[in-house]
Amino acid sequence: MSIIVQKFGGTSLATSEKILAAAKKAIRVKQRGHQVVMVVSAMGKNTDILVDLAREITDRPQPREMDMLLSTGEQVSVALTAMAMHSLGVKAVSLTGAQIGIKTDSSHTKARIKSISTERIQRLLNEGNIVIAAGFQGIDKDFDITTLGRGGSDTTAVALAAVLQADACEIYTDVDGIYTTDPRLLSEARRVNQISYDEMLELASLGAGVMHSRSIEFAKKYNVPIRVCSSMTDAPGSLIITSPESKQQAVCGATVTIDEARISLLGVPDVPGTSLHIFSLIAGRKITVDMIVQNVGADGRSDISFTVPKSELSAALEAVESAAKEKELGGHELTFDDNVSKVSVVGLGMAHQTGIADRTFHALSDAEINIQMITTSEIKISVLVDRADAEQALRVLHNAFELEKTPADSANLAENANIHRDRTDAAAVVARLQGIDMEELFVDDVTLDDTQARVTINGLPDAPGIAATVFDEVAAANVFVDMIVQSFDGKDGQADLTFTVPRDKLATSMEVANLLAEKMGCDSVTSSPEIAKLSVSGVGLRSHTSVAIRMFRSLSQAGINVDLINTSEVRVNIIVEGIHSQKALACLQTAFEDVLR
Ligand code: ADP
Ligand code: ASP
Ligand code: MG
Repeated sequence: MSIIVQKFGGTSLATSEKILAAAKKAIRVKQRGHQVVMVVSAMGKNTDILVDLAREITDRPQPREMDMLLSTGEQVSVALTAMAMHSLGVKAVSLTGAQIGIKTDSSHTKARIKSISTERIQRLLNEGNIVIAAGFQGIDKDFDITTLGRGGSDTTAVALAAVLQADACEIYTDVDGIYTTDPRLLSEARRVNQISYDEMLELASLGAGVMHSRSIEFAKKYNVPIRVCSSMTDAPGSLIITSPESKQQAVCGATVTIDEARISLLGVPDVPGTSLHIFSLIAGRKITVDMIVQNVGADGRSDISFTVPKSELSAALEAVESAAKEKELGGHELTFDDNVSKVSVVGLGMAHQTGIADRTFHALSDAEINIQMITTSEIKISVLVDRADAEQALRVLHNAFELEKTPADSANLAENANIHRDRTDAAAVVARLQGIDMEELFVDDVTLDDTQARVTINGLPDAPGIAATVFDEVAAANVFVDMIVQSFDGKDGQADLTFTVPRDKLATSMEVANLLAEKMGCDSVTSSPEIAKLSVSGVGLRSHTSVAIRMFRSLSQAGINVDLINTSEVRVNIIVEGIHSQKALACLQTAFEDVLR
């Protein structure tokens, strides 16, 4: 019999009436002949209330006790929802994460799912029950309660849909689908008919709080189609599936991470192993680092900047300080700024279209917004701006890419209305991934691109419009730019801008760069005629903080220095000098051997 998993978020369960309404939605599906698993979140703002209560007691609650506390929110919801079902004359059983058998690792407050047993749920379903599962929680090897991280009920729902080989996974929430950006921030945001896993992964990890990003990792890995819709209406919502909404449009959405913080280590030794040392201590604390920018100075010293969520700033600073102490980094300076936000545009189409970076920088320049740092990957461009500029930056980018307009080739929602999972495929994926921890790192390829060269303009003025001017000129010279990285330069208010171009365009690019440097009074322009870009692709690569570390470690052991790095959820790219290309490729292939699937 077909199984449908339906997840209801906190707002959709905020009152007893809403719980009854949610129960009725599930019952309707059962009456249509499906077996139903409901996954529920804590009622309303209950998790926030519990977090606040803990803070009233102590600044540093132990993570184990936080999980003990926070998991109670979902336990209230499952019980009340089961009672609601009973009151409507329907058989239903509530289950906690532990009762289901959702086994996780022991990283309290951010635990990852290792396995889920399906026997009990399946038996209860076969006996005619609706099963009501507590979202967001599991149990570790010592039977301690764990939670999956804020918003984690989505992940419970998709993971259950995956292992139960459910026909569909429906996420009921307080918006009627996925929007081009948070509709609460921008009223002109548009609901999309469908969005690809890769785009949604990226948007979710860059701040689109509508879905927990790890739920999309499950969806992509196990090929689970997700429908996101409103718990208040019967509108079809948005689908998250393999293909994007439009093949024509370059950008599908924009996000802002309001509370971001920048950390910079200035003047550290530019030798293999420095970044490894710093980032492995941060990763050891399970802190996700983003926007890593490394700039090589002339004196054999380099500056490393990166961003972390503001809430993790103090833990990250502690890690960096201990890294500096353990390994004589000598003469370095540590600075940070917790008044910054990260604004990003995302789209699969970016990989094939030129001028997207240029348009991004132009829009910000026209609004006189200063860009502090830039990092790009194949499917996203992120800029770091002053927090006061963040919402306006989001607005101008949404505008610049006309995200409010439905693309002419938008996928037809009516055709998608009944997308269900392919049964044979579902069984095959589950069989293939059997025995592997469910949220284990998943790498599908390690590749080398040795067709590019690097150009760096050092000492650009740190003022609005600079990146726009540079990429205007580069685009006018018909050069397709791949990676772009703009550093933060704490010492003299100047920035370094690095980009990669095809090798046969290096001479043209250098001419452009030299002219610009002269015009703007920059220090120098440097280049590497042959660089190697090494890429590791897979699922959830940024949230698995160990990926960049593995890359750094294996290259450092081979004495190879990493010049640039950029990360996205589906790919981590590293640039090294071209002479190392084959050796670096071999190193990475070995380093990821055990997780290549
Ligand atoms: P739930 O409690 O149902 O899990 P959340 O609050 O976690 O709901 O997620 C829904 C909210 O996500 C919406 O109210 C909306 O403000 C926010 N949101 C952020 N980005 C987006 C987006 N791109 N599309 C839709 N909603 C978004
Ligand atoms: N109740 C948890 C939270 O508020 C999990 C969830 O809602 O997804 O983060
Ligand atoms: Mg949520």
